Amino acid sequence: MPSIFTRIIRGEIPCYKVAESETCFAFLDINPLAKGHTLIVPKNEVDYLFDVEDELYIDLMRFAKKVAIALEKAVPCERIGVTVIGLEVPHAHVHLIPINALNDMNFAKPKLTMSAEELEMLAATISANFN
Ligand code: AMP
Repeated sequence: MPSIFTRIIRGEIPCYKVAESETCFAFLDINPLAKGHTLIVPKNEVDYLFDVEDELYIDLMRFAKKVAIALEKAVPCERIGVTVIGLEVPHAHVHLIPINALNDMNFAKPKLTMSAEELEMLAATISANFN
């Protein structure tokens, strides 16, 4: 069975798309830890990040860097935090999170509530800054 992220990439499930490359896809996390929380996913479904073959792994990180640059322009912050968890969705992904303090990366914190309109506008703003 395809992962929920594969179904998003195929357009079978809606998402707030930020950007895509030939091999990778970026969209907003539906339960954001911070405004602009974005997921970076390889289009080729592999569960565990460190099982992704080298060329795609490098593509993913290069793509994540480009998205992070766009994200920082769209959501002013101290840094873009990067983390990998993968305990919920078995399709390798990198979390990019705009942060100003250590606790902004705390996944045990309650998630933000954002309206569909806010998420849509935010995705469009990040996308507009993506080169
Ligand atoms: P983890 O696998 O532990 O890294 O967590 C998976 C992340 O994917 C969580 O932050 C979820 O909020 C997020 N997520 C799960 N389903 C969706 C979805 N349909 N659209 C966007 N984000 C999602």
